[in-house]
Amino acid sequence: MIVMKFGGTSVGSKERFEQVFALISKTKENDGPPLVVVSAMSGVTNALIEAANLAVRRDLDGALAQIEMIRQKHIDAVKGLLSAEKAQALLADLNIHLQELESVLRGINYLGELSKRSLDVVSSIGELLSSRVLAEYASSRGLKVQWVDARQVLITDDTFGKANPLWAEVEIRAKKIIGAAVKDGFTVISQGFIGSTIDGVTTTLGRGGSDYSASILGVAADASRIEIWTDVDGMMTCDPRIVPAAKVIAQVTFQEAAELAYFGAKVLHPLTIKPAVEKSIPVKVLNTMRPDSPGTLIQADVADSDIDPKNIPLSQRICAIASKKNITALFISSPRMLMAHGFLAKVFSVFDRHKTSIDLIATSEVSLSITIDSTENLDAIKEDLAEWGELKVLNNTAIVTVVGRQFRGSSGIAGEVFSAMKDINILVISGGASDINLSFLVLNEDADNAVKQLHKHFFGA
Ligand code: ADP
Ligand code: ASP
Ligand code: MG
Repeated sequence: MIVMKFGGTSVGSKERFEQVFALISKTKENDGPPLVVVSAMSGVTNALIEAANLAVRRDLDGALAQIEMIRQKHIDAVKGLLSAEKAQALLADLNIHLQELESVLRGINYLGELSKRSLDVVSSIGELLSSRVLAEYASSRGLKVQWVDARQVLITDDTFGKANPLWAEVEIRAKKIIGAAVKDGFTVISQGFIGSTIDGVTTTLGRGGSDYSASILGVAADASRIEIWTDVDGMMTCDPRIVPAAKVIAQVTFQEAAELAYFGAKVLHPLTIKPAVEKSIPVKVLNTMRPDSPGTLIQADVADSDIDPKNIPLSQRICAIASKKNITALFISSPRMLMAHGFLAKVFSVFDRHKTSIDLIATSEVSLSITIDSTENLDAIKEDLAEWGELKVLNNTAIVTVVGRQFRGSSGIAGEVFSAMKDINILVISGGASDINLSFLVLNEDADNAVKQLHKHFFGA
């Protein structure tokens, strides 16, 4: 079974739904019925989150206006796809979700309180709507379809806003619900991004989490391939919004793709790769708008590790450049820890205690630079760190990452990278932690320029 995940732009309009249907049908003909995982129509998750924020700020009219915008977007898509009768039945069905949304928003507004748990209920609606539209349309075109509520299968813990799958439960349910339907010849259409606790409370996997859903469900249902259908031709040498001349990478290893996703290549959610690696399920990134372009294949390393890195030209060892903005840097200096053991352990335990993951680190004898992505618990972290030394915090920084092969076993990479950065102020450097990654920190405002310069240096204009 193949998993086909379609992102927001891929289901962004009537025409896109038609395109998606054509792709699903083709896969069904060639490889049997797929599991289809869809995101919300583009812009809908943002509108839902905005609605919740307006409601809690006591702007109920503004929140309800967001619902109307979402309703209209779906009406516009449905109109051209279905007969008047079928469209009416579907819109009545979508209305049930929109009415539930309105009740939740009224509740948030009334209480003036928005918990992560409530926000998950609100933001889950987009995927429920888009998947219903696709399922009804595909079914009206004669495809044998089963719509599956992902909340019956993708069981998670209760970390609302960033839930983690409970694998044993997901595997049982994926085989029972998805596996059985596919075996009976049904194309299964379900939602990305959303799940549920074992007690039936709606959760989400975090922004961009539909890719992760595809991978979780694919692994749990023993898929042979996971396809991520999006709005670009594959994983590229950098974000094409920064450098329009970025090139598609035909093949990357699981490790390279994971590093790129983690350090900012939005095309894949950073957690997508891990489950697939564990079961060696290849992942393909493909363009819904240009389905004939070959895309990017992500799979286990096929490179011959016996080749002396010195014999591989530098240009062939650099895979891609990624950047991640709005990072917070913490500079900790503790002269009284000179020659003392346990300094790092004490500092890291602070981040552990406040459930904040660290991206980059650089150390000297008594100083430590750390970057974090989430500032949710920053105040508590600052308070605890103050005990260990002097602390400086710098917001609005960006990590720039060069990903490639065999960085450790060869000379020249750092020289090439930093010669391209000669006009840019580098705040922190982190290299050598892995054989495939060299990262450094710059100010947000310098990040795009850094990516452009590096791209020009390694891949041409
Ligand atoms: P979807 O809605 O299909 O999940 P996303 O917007 O989440 O799509 O991801 C696709 C976008 O990721 C692209 O439009 C592109 O701008 C951005 N992107 C960032 N880095 C890369 C990269 N290295 N390769 C391809 N796309 C990238
Ligand atoms: N719709 C969700 C979001 O916008 C999940 C996704 O698209 O992957 O974050
Ligand atoms: Mg995405």
